[in-house]
Amino acid sequence: MQDKKFNKLALLSIPFDENSSFEKGPAQAPTIIKQVLQNGSLNKGTELDINLNQNPKWVEGGEVSFADERHFNEQISSACEALLAEDKLVLSLGGDHSVSYPLIKSYAKHFGQLNILHIDAHTDLYDSFKGNRFSNACPFARVMEEGLCKRLVQVGIRTLNPHQRSQIDKFGVECHEMRDWPLSAPLTFEGPVYISLDVDGIDPAFAPGVSHREPGGLSSREVINLIQHVDAPVVGADIVEFNPNKDIDDMTSQLCAKLVKELAGKIIASL
Ligand code: MN
Ligand code: MN
Repeated sequence: MQDKKFNKLALLSIPFDENSSFEKGPAQAPTIIKQVLQNGSLNKGTELDINLNQNPKWVEGGEVSFADERHFNEQISSACEALLAEDKLVLSLGGDHSVSYPLIKSYAKHFGQLNILHIDAHTDLYDSFKGNRFSNACPFARVMEEGLCKRLVQVGIRTLNPHQRSQIDKFGVECHEMRDWPLSAPLTFEGPVYISLDVDGIDPAFAPGVSHREPGGLSSREVINLIQHVDAPVVGADIVEFNPNKDIDDMTSQLCAKLVKELAGKIIASL
């Protein structure tokens, strides 16, 4: 279904946390991460030797506006869709994890055989959470119900309960729990990969700036290596659930900026 030749990667800001089930804050993430990217503390080189400094393939994608009265899903989908229509792939910053459903919905229109690599402490497969089917605890239930991907591969998981396990079985999700870490074999993919990166998948020792601190997670290095070792083209990504209100001495914003660079480098390497 990929009938277009994508030639750029756009950075899209999503200042949205209305579906945070616990604490607000991820709406501020795009501004904070962008400040770190621009304040001179990091150079623009990436570990994969893609330099983002004045790179013609690395472009600003603007900010999703929630000013009009459309449902938030439509506002996010249409912003993502507009970039894809301009042959730009999308790396999005911010928001609670509910934003991934409308993003992936847009992607599914262009990539019929999409794989999703989902890094998170949580499976986010609740059918509904606190009465909200679009909660940040639910996006991958919506993705799977609508058949928006070929495979959903989850890494970092350490919060399963019986409902989540039944959803995993129902939808055929490939869920790798932290109690079984490290993986017994490297992940392999056929076809395009979208990476959905919930910052709470990383251990709170590295990333305290999240609403749901769940110890026993991945290290920064392990997540960067997971990204770098994807053996198929990465065509899009989101970085969600960074909550600046919970950060300690900019640890998490610095990590998010590093993750932006390494995700961008990985995506641009395939363009
Ligand atoms: Mn999540
Ligand atoms: Mn999470």
